Amino acid sequence: MAGNPGPSPRVGVLALQGDFREHLRVLTALGADARSVRRPEELSEIDGLVIPGGESSVMDKLSRAFGLAGPLREAVAGGLPVYGTCAGLIMLADRVLDGIEGQQSIGGLDVSVRRNAFGNQLESFETDLAIPRLGEPGIHAVFIRAPVVVEAGPDVDVLASLDDGRIVAVESRNVLGTAFHPEVTGDSRIHSYFLQKVANAH
Ligand code: GLN
Repeated sequence: MAGNPGPSPRVGVLALQGDFREHLRVLTALGADARSVRRPEELSEIDGLVIPGGESSVMDKLSRAFGLAGPLREAVAGGLPVYGTCAGLIMLADRVLDGIEGQQSIGGLDVSVRRNAFGNQLESFETDLAIPRLGEPGIHAVFIRAPVVVEAGPDVDVLASLDDGRIVAVESRNVLGTAFHPEVTGDSRIHSYFLQKVANAH
């Protein structure tokens, strides 16, 4: 590529719980200045944020205990580019179905998600998904006790659905969410797409 690519985007990964290390690895490999975020003041030092997979009810409790929930909510509402995978998607949903008692989300995405939507008989599975916005070939998607988006508002773009129509990737303004885990497959196109979003937000 010709010209100066400019400074690396500073991309935080919420590191309270879950598979944040895998995201840090992928983002670093793509040339981002990737760093863990655990404290509210770290939010002002980043250009974008990834919320990893893990357990959304635990992430919710820890983010409130560490005083991060409010600042996160403000950052997302203020336009910070954010990408949530699996539990991260649940954290970004305005409405959460089948949460534990008292479970809250940060919100930002005008969607309803159902936790553990595939039930016990199908806790984890892999499939190839067409994501037209990312081109060919499709993405190999790994679902682990995954949620699905059961309802999406009018300003939400559906990026991918399963063959049965269930929505598993969405985007709305500064927020991107997938029910699956691209950080474990070696295909970094979704992270690249997010980094492009971070760059465009400048
Ligand atoms: N089932 C988890 C939750 O409710 C999400 C699983 C995942 O992130 N892989 O938060």
